[in-house]
Amino acid sequence: MFSMEKTAMEKIRIAGVEVSRFGLGTWAIGGTEWGAVSDEDAIATMIGAVERGINLIDTAPIYGRGRSEGLLGRAIRAHGRREDFYIATKTGLDWSGDGVVANSTPKRLREEIEASLRRLSVEWIDLYQVHWPDTVTPIEETAEVLAGFVHEGKVRALGVSNFSVAQMEAFGKVAPVRSNQPPFNIFEREIEQAHGGEEAVLPWCAAHGMAVLTYSSLCRSLLAGRVRRGMKFEAGDVRSVDPKFIEPRFGQYMNAVEGIEKFARENFGKTVLEFAARWVLDRPGVSVALWGAKRPEQLDAIQGALGWRIDHDAMEEVDRIVAECVKDPVGPEYLTPGVRKT
Ligand code: NAP
Repeated sequence: MFSMEKTAMEKIRIAGVEVSRFGLGTWAIGGTEWGAVSDEDAIATMIGAVERGINLIDTAPIYGRGRSEGLLGRAIRAHGRREDFYIATKTGLDWSGDGVVANSTPKRLREEIEASLRRLSVEWIDLYQVHWPDTVTPIEETAEVLAGFVHEGKVRALGVSNFSVAQMEAFGKVAPVRSNQPPFNIFEREIEQAHGGEEAVLPWCAAHGMAVLTYSSLCRSLLAGRVRRGMKFEAGDVRSVDPKFIEPRFGQYMNAVEGIEKFARENFGKTVLEFAARWVLDRPGVSVALWGAKRPEQLDAIQGALGWRIDHDAMEEVDRIVAECVKDPVGPEYLTPGVRKT
């Protein structure tokens, strides 16, 4: 009988716990910024991730204003084994007023931990990440409150997201910080470079034994093989306001996508999606690549990104294609939340 041999999921440790090198991203599953996703599809995607060897599931209270966490709780109950899920959720965003602002005040953190544990219906969270730095609350104060959650057994490990080196250093003086979650993909590589006298985030994390969980690893689908020239996204879909998907930049990025697509096919027999996902894992210092999905079948392509590597010459060719095609690069800064009025 014909049987397809599966390539094993690659693993890494975060604070001693084994996690998959691909993690499921559940922002889209929240259902508010990427089009509607049914409860059934969302739960099937989360359980489908575990069935494909993915134990790290990244969520956040802001994704669907609690919906993504609630659905993860339901998926864990439907699956039946809490220990098969490594829950990475977040704290420190506030949507109670106009718009979304960073809020890591002790009061907000205490409200959020209880709400997250309740929605997830679990006794502890494996990795609790500060979603965005709150520039008006001292980082030390935030770190102290979060360290208390670890002490109380509500959280196993602490992480941050979108933090600079100075911000991680300030946090680390008060409580051990195990991970950072920055944007990173073939087109968005700010963390590889030093900025304004500050060290580059990615090598700094590697040198300090911190895990790096990359978000937008597929560049919000631009590198996933489905996006074509001139494609329009519905109003309310985050990509309808993403400057990369708006002309004239969109055409430049599509030239690069097509160049990488051809290169990946001719030299590695891979799709652009498989190649772009592998590229993230093969950059020095990356621990986990988050992969956003709304349906379980979208995770099947992960198989083609496992068990091979992108060599130095191929990395250089990718750099050449991007430099040749993208004349007016732009980052994901449009995702930055507002600053809280004190
Ligand atoms: P992403 O992973 O870069 O891209 C996800 C999109 O790629 C999907 O919605 C889907 O697009 C497309 N895709 C996935 N699998 C595919 C397949 N097999 N074939 C074709 N297209 C496929 O997106 P992301 O949501 O920005 O990043 C992933 C996760 O990172 C999020 O879910 C979230 O957990 C996290 N994140 C964190 C932050 C932060 O500030 N910490 C910010 C952003 C994201 P379609 O929807 O068009 O099908």
